[in-house]
Amino acid sequence: MKCFKSGKQRRSEIKTARRQRRAVAVVAELPVYLPASRWVPVDPARLQPNNSYGQSDFVTRGFYLDRPFRCVDCGADCIWSAERQRWWYELAGGSQYSTARRCAACRDQERQRQRAARLAAGHAAKNALILRSTAKFDQK
Ligand SMILES: [Zn+2]
Repeated sequence: MKCFKSGKQRRSEIKTARRQRRAVAVVAELPVYLPASRWVPVDPARLQPNNSYGQSDFVTRGFYLDRPFRCVDCGADCIWSAERQRWWYELAGGSQYSTARRCAACRDQERQRQRAARLAAGHAAKNALILRSTAKFDQK
């Protein structure tokens, strides 16, 4: 008889199983404390793979919770809703360790600023190369 799994491997499996049981138990108790709109279950299969040893809090917990944060630009107090988090982590492919930092208005502004910067960088590269015509870029 041969043992195919190392002790370390088995220990880690036991730990994972234990963590999953705990997460399920928490989710089962949850509706008592929170209205359904405030939390959304996590589907770990849809998350971006992470190379870290740690686990983000929502994976351990098993569900997303509305998360308060302060906008880094205007300082407004905001809520990153559970549903928006699910969208970001599971559908948009956001890293498990990224979080919301800007309110909707500032995010929009930042996006425009980045676009302008990219465009400017594109123009700089083009001017350096001379090979491409300005018209091509400006048509976009
Ligand atoms: Zn803001």
